[in-house]
Amino acid sequence: MESLITHPDLFPDEGNNTFADIILPVPIPRMFTYRIPTALVSQVQIGARVIVQFGRKKVLTGIIGKVHSKPPKAYEAKPILDILDEQPTVNPLQIRFWVWMAEYYCCHIGEVMLAALPSGLRLSSESKVQLHPNFVAEESPYPLDAREELILEALENRAELSYEDCEKILGIKTIHPILKSLVYKEAILIFERVQDKYTPKVETRIRLKQEIAEDKQSLEQLFEQLSGKAKQESILLKYLRDIPVFNNPSLNEKGLDKASLLEEGDSESSLKTLIKNGVFESFKQVVNRIDETEVTAGEIILSERQELAISEIKSHFDTKSTVLLHGITGSGKTEIYIQLIKEVLDSGSQVLMLLPEIALTTQIVSRLKQVFGGQMGVYHSKYSDNERVEVWNGVISGRFPFVVGVRSSIFLPFDSLGMIIVDEEHESSYKQFDPAPRFQARDSAIMLAYFHQAKTLLGSATPSFESYFNATETQKYGLVELSERYGKSNLPKFHLADLGADKRKNLLKVDSTRMMREKIQEALSKQEQVLIFQNRRGYSPYIQCEDCGWTGQCIQCDVSLTYHQFAEELRCHYCGYKEKVPTSCPACGGSHLTTMGMGTERIEESLSLLFPEARIGRMDLDTTRSKYGYQKLLDEFGSGHIDILVGTQMITKGLDFGNVTVVGVWDGDRILNFPDFRSGERAYQQITQVAGRAGRREAKGNVIIQTRKADEAIYQQVIKGDYLEFYQHEIHERKKFYYPPYVKLIKITTRHSDFKTAEKAAMDLHRQMAGIAVKKIVLGPEKALIGRIKNQYQFESLIKLDRSGASQTEFKTQIAQIQEQITAKPEFRSVRFIVDVDPN
Ligand code: ADP
Ligand code: ZN
Ligand code: ZN
Repeated sequence: MESLITHPDLFPDEGNNTFADIILPVPIPRMFTYRIPTALVSQVQIGARVIVQFGRKKVLTGIIGKVHSKPPKAYEAKPILDILDEQPTVNPLQIRFWVWMAEYYCCHIGEVMLAALPSGLRLSSESKVQLHPNFVAEESPYPLDAREELILEALENRAELSYEDCEKILGIKTIHPILKSLVYKEAILIFERVQDKYTPKVETRIRLKQEIAEDKQSLEQLFEQLSGKAKQESILLKYLRDIPVFNNPSLNEKGLDKASLLEEGDSESSLKTLIKNGVFESFKQVVNRIDETEVTAGEIILSERQELAISEIKSHFDTKSTVLLHGITGSGKTEIYIQLIKEVLDSGSQVLMLLPEIALTTQIVSRLKQVFGGQMGVYHSKYSDNERVEVWNGVISGRFPFVVGVRSSIFLPFDSLGMIIVDEEHESSYKQFDPAPRFQARDSAIMLAYFHQAKTLLGSATPSFESYFNATETQKYGLVELSERYGKSNLPKFHLADLGADKRKNLLKVDSTRMMREKIQEALSKQEQVLIFQNRRGYSPYIQCEDCGWTGQCIQCDVSLTYHQFAEELRCHYCGYKEKVPTSCPACGGSHLTTMGMGTERIEESLSLLFPEARIGRMDLDTTRSKYGYQKLLDEFGSGHIDILVGTQMITKGLDFGNVTVVGVWDGDRILNFPDFRSGERAYQQITQVAGRAGRREAKGNVIIQTRKADEAIYQQVIKGDYLEFYQHEIHERKKFYYPPYVKLIKITTRHSDFKTAEKAAMDLHRQMAGIAVKKIVLGPEKALIGRIKNQYQFESLIKLDRSGASQTEFKTQIAQIQEQITAKPEFRSVRFIVDVDPN
């Protein structure tokens, strides 16, 4: 779309009293009020996109949030330049949701808008200058000065100039007065050329000239003419094979896309000749980027237990809006979801299903595709922006009443959701960490469902403590439990492999215990597959000098650089800084640099020493960066081309491979030791999830956990599969030390490039927060775990708030005011506060 908007200065429009509050994609606290020109009043609708001027030169796309007749007090309202949508892009429910999100997560509504709208729906623009069509220099009554002449001269040769062009031509920055004078003298026009970023996908298609297609005789003649011209003949034959126009000439109209017509090495030039001779014609057509899939699934018969679970879920939904489905790994939750989704779709409502990013490329999505085919949209973060716009538009048009997607799919323009499913609801990746809005997609989904009067189903084998607490202690949620696997498969057998004991007996080989080696060997000899898990968090390989202890440090952050063997580089995972691995120690000049830690690369190496015959694959951030990297590894593993797959968190989720009989946790203690109140919960979840990949068919699975602390209670609880016992033990600690779910946490990070300034601002904030009359505990400020990132020093305060809702809102409003006060002081002007509500 291209729209030419005449500059507002040229058409003053007074006396009209309609105003709109516009949500702009910028981090400012409030909506801005604009005047609606009389000509546009009839088109005004909440949720429609508009173009407005913001600042002196900037033109932004905003969304109408509110229409009213109150002019702003503090400034004169500028007019809206244009309204882009006949149908609003955003519906009123979405705006309510945005407002809620900005308030709850302490951010600006513009930041929510930025996260919510695919950038393809935002517009880019620049002010442009062109010659006034009626301007004739000789006849102009106004004299022109030298600078004005320069601009007009440039416009003789070029149809239009941007503001930047004008600045360059004149060599000065303040061009506005000059342009204004030229406008007054009717020598130029200023306009905005606005372009939608979304570009539809256009395909070149080829079809026979209609006269030929409709007339068998002329077709026969054509073959005679082409005899001896093998290349052209072959193209014609291919066309007729795919599009049998003999029997049905109307098929010709849609034609065939050029790429597939030419796919078998036919030459482009022969086709050109055919077009030139009037045999074929080529035309362009807009096509869907997202391919249609046919429904291919046969009927599934649910087990009695699954049927029972469904009726339990439904009866909870009679009185509660949220239900937690706690079903162990392999209990068949997916089929339960499918049945419920079908029923909601049949009733005419929409369904959204959230999955952790990484599960989105696994079997669960292909299973859903088989059942729901073309009415299911997939919203993936690796999608191109154009693909996202198509899903967005597909939700509005009704093409996708059902969407499966990552956390950002809660922003899609649903208008009548009946149910939201959050699978693997415990997953920490549902929380957006950076930038704002720092939202928890599961919690936000529950709110979204509330706005739609819809139901939320949370599913997990290892529920988050928050959800389990709400399902048991407060009974806000209904609880449905599935404690057996579907069909003949059994839960795997666990083995604790004691690293310390093996070391004493001299049984350790390249970090592996005898138990680990034996079980892997056993599986390999039976042509079964093995998964080896290594936790990513707090755990990356680094380089150290054996002589003086030097390790590579980032120059902008207080962290060690991570060793990337593949690129022979040291990289910072916080800011991206990288350097080549030094050949000798930069500190002492020694040459004994060794790799420390055990990243997945190191394990891969160890395994290839231990099992030289085995085909080993590795799945981590490094090997899955490309769009299809993850899928490719999964395919290789699924088709049996990999015997042992080593991986991080990525291998713990949703994988359903029948031939995996051994799962190894390379270093269980690492998961436990992370300094965080949730480390126990996370360890239980991770080990249980990864163990759940073993023995998913008839063959019995084995799980080996290597540890130095075999007597830790948590291992026994994981082994027993006793979630309840584990939960009760942990929740007791949470209560004692005031942690969620007993309190609400808010973390505020204070950042500045000067250490002292950051500290002072953090102290100031702390003092003032302590004075707020709300039930709470304020901890800190403390130097953050990572004291400096990208040359910014960071201090953290942690607030533990009483759970009651009213005081929370009160507290949030007050901290926003306090922050404004602090940054209003000259010394703290460039201090930044980052508020994280319900941090991970
Ligand atoms: P979960 O998500 O609870 O871990 P899945 O939904 O992946 O479990 O189910 C585990 C396995 O059982 C899958 O291979 C699935 O195809 C199979 N399964 C579940 N329910 C049925 C059913 N009613 N009929 C046939 N196979 C089923
Ligand atoms: Zn050294
Ligand atoms: Zn860094």
